[in-house]
Amino acid sequence: MQAPIRIELPTIYGMKTVNAYLFLDPVPTLIDAGEKTTASWEALTAALAKHQLKIEDIQRVIITHAHVDHMGMAAKIAAHSNAEVWVNEYCYPWAIRKETMWDRRVALMGEMLPDTISGTPGNFKQMILAFMKNVKNHWDNIPEDRLQVFPMEGQLNFGGGDWEVIYAPGHANMQTCFYQREHKWLIAADMLLSITPTAVMDASIDNPKVRDRGLSQMLTSYKKMEALDIETVFPGHYEPFGDHRSVIKSQVDRIHVRIQESYELIKGGTNDFMDILNAMYKNRVSMPAMSMLLGYLDVLEEQGKIEVKIVAGRKGFFLK
Ligand SMILES: [Zn+2]
Repeated sequence: MQAPIRIELPTIYGMKTVNAYLFLDPVPTLIDAGEKTTASWEALTAALAKHQLKIEDIQRVIITHAHVDHMGMAAKIAAHSNAEVWVNEYCYPWAIRKETMWDRRVALMGEMLPDTISGTPGNFKQMILAFMKNVKNHWDNIPEDRLQVFPMEGQLNFGGGDWEVIYAPGHANMQTCFYQREHKWLIAADMLLSITPTAVMDASIDNPKVRDRGLSQMLTSYKKMEALDIETVFPGHYEPFGDHRSVIKSQVDRIHVRIQESYELIKGGTNDFMDILNAMYKNRVSMPAMSMLLGYLDVLEEQGKIEVKIVAGRKGFFLK
């Protein structure tokens, strides 16, 4: 069985590049599909040509999670080939009506965002929401008759072998990894990366009005990954790596340090979300920073250490 061939594609959102993985046999198969940009399309075409393949030769595209940098080009590839696109159950609504799903996420973010932030020019909220709107331009819906849906946990056969589907929410609540037990390979999506993944804010699968506790889910998923016997991690971004347990340990340790730092700030009388954010991230306030801080506060709340209270008409975080 052939190891996954890494194809590095350029991105405009978040990380500098994203990986797609190619299997040649039994049929040309791609895991993940990059963003829908000209640069990404050209990079994919050039990478396939090295294996004497064209886009129209692709027979299957298998998606790990419904983020623009992993799913953006899937519809375009399907339009230029006879490829089936395989998505998991939770990715399915994103595959057929990404506008609805995207708007749910943006609505939740809109509730969280203040209009302005000190040190950030202009209207912060409008700026973020405009950026979010732009994402939809790099992603197309996939025609239903081209989709194959697989369960969140189970087995898939591709690349000449069996792969266990492992549900690994946290970075994204519809994320699956693929584990090949004989070769000890993990196609990790954005669950295991050489840098700590962001727990991206999103609407809950069961109730779109509620925000999922992404970081808490991620900490549970880390444990699932830690238990696996892995030789090589094939991540969604950057180079494959081994020794996943020490990678996990350093990332989880760091998360707990940051949780403790946010606790100390609250203890010291910094109670407003934006004030805690500014103290934690100095001038590097961003959407990923907000998502992570929300996660730290979720964990502290779950541990019974802090609670949300309205004091003098303002919502804040206080010691319990
Ligand atoms: Zn990604």
